[in-house]
Amino acid sequence: MKMVLPVQGGGMEIEMKKVVKFGGSSLASAKQFKKVADIIRSDKSRRYVVPSAPGKRNSKDEKVTDLLYACYEAASQGGSYKKTLEKIKNRYLDIIDGLGLNLNLDPEFDKIEENFLAKAGKDYAASRGEYLNGIVMAEYLGFPFVDAAEVIFFNEDGTLDAEETNRELSERLEGMDRAVIPGFYGSLKSGAVKTFSRGGSDVTGSIVARAIHADMYENWTDVSGMLVTDPRVVDDPEVIETITYKELRELAYMGASVLHEDAIFPVRKEGIPINIRNTNRPEDKGTLIVESTCRKPKHTITGIAGKKGFCSINIEKAMMNSEVGFGRKVLSVFEQYGISFEHMPSGIDTMTIYVHQSEFEDFEQSVIAGIHRAVNPDTVELESDLALIAVVGRGMRSNRGTAGRIFSALAHARVNIKMIDQGSSEWNIIIGVKNDDFETAIRAIYDIFVTAEL
Ligand code: ASP
Repeated sequence: MKMVLPVQGGGMEIEMKKVVKFGGSSLASAKQFKKVADIIRSDKSRRYVVPSAPGKRNSKDEKVTDLLYACYEAASQGGSYKKTLEKIKNRYLDIIDGLGLNLNLDPEFDKIEENFLAKAGKDYAASRGEYLNGIVMAEYLGFPFVDAAEVIFFNEDGTLDAEETNRELSERLEGMDRAVIPGFYGSLKSGAVKTFSRGGSDVTGSIVARAIHADMYENWTDVSGMLVTDPRVVDDPEVIETITYKELRELAYMGASVLHEDAIFPVRKEGIPINIRNTNRPEDKGTLIVESTCRKPKHTITGIAGKKGFCSINIEKAMMNSEVGFGRKVLSVFEQYGISFEHMPSGIDTMTIYVHQSEFEDFEQSVIAGIHRAVNPDTVELESDLALIAVVGRGMRSNRGTAGRIFSALAHARVNIKMIDQGSSEWNIIIGVKNDDFETAIRAIYDIFVTAEL
């Protein structure tokens, strides 16, 4: 990190390095590109830019990535693809014209068409959205372009070769004080293009942040940060100001989506914070995702997330508690059928296993028979259509009465609690309710911790 003296004001000013990743809706049109360029130019530490492909301009629009998949599918099977290719070309032409650039992508499109017909692969096809957007972005900003295929590497099994990538990318970006690196793809050892799973530009941004030892990874999207809970359940929920990686992981696992789940690992290795920001409201601070923080959370809880579609297997056997190996024998039956369990609350002579209903249904009778054979229980009962809700927050540790407040809120809302499970970390309480009570329960918990604490 370089230290520079400020032009005015006292003290030393530290020159920071930020990686800025922009999602598809932030780059869907020339108008959006202009907003993005304003954001980049307004802070000189925003030096490494990772663009997605152009996304939807409105709810009825199509993403360029989806058009590319469709176009390739048709072209590689000898079907008619020209119209779709034309649509894709026009998306870029509109952007280039709208920005007043003198850039001709025809040679690129000729090569793409040729490669589609030669069956270059679905990943190659999808990656062209980011590749072309990277070229446009580099031209518009006057930044050098770095093709991600030359610096991001995958293993043959499709996983990221994180160390080789980090080595190559750091070396390449070493002497470059700014660059545009398209998101979403890299290459296999054979040289063939390989993409991450959908939404993977988030991962690229994180990889670049690690490679340049960024001070911050800004992830620009179309919401002003991560919300305390699902806006389809609670109207206009608050934005989370600060969240730790662990809390995020917990909420993401239970269905909250804000980042690609693999985007956390590269930056977490280096302790680089992520800031989720809104391209359409750059004045909003967004959500800061950090390893750990002394900042007091605004509320006792950080977030609430949940999923429907679980079922429970309730096993009873007198004197179960004194039978050594009981739990292991029961779980080995689930393992035998490849079913992972979510939670396992137990009583003195009872044990309950929560599993995903969809994973369990096909093996239901075989699992019950297996449990009978393994531990000879008094009864095995099933309950279906259950939902799990995670109430997560580092603030819960230092506050007494959190569980009490959750239960009284749910009692007032007339929700029957089927299960509770507090992780040993004390910042995570999982509650099981009937699917039908899911929304009511989330609203009640939100109200007691957020609305009432305002
Ligand atoms: N364009 C890709 C997708 O639509 C990757 C991304 O946007 O992150 O999934």
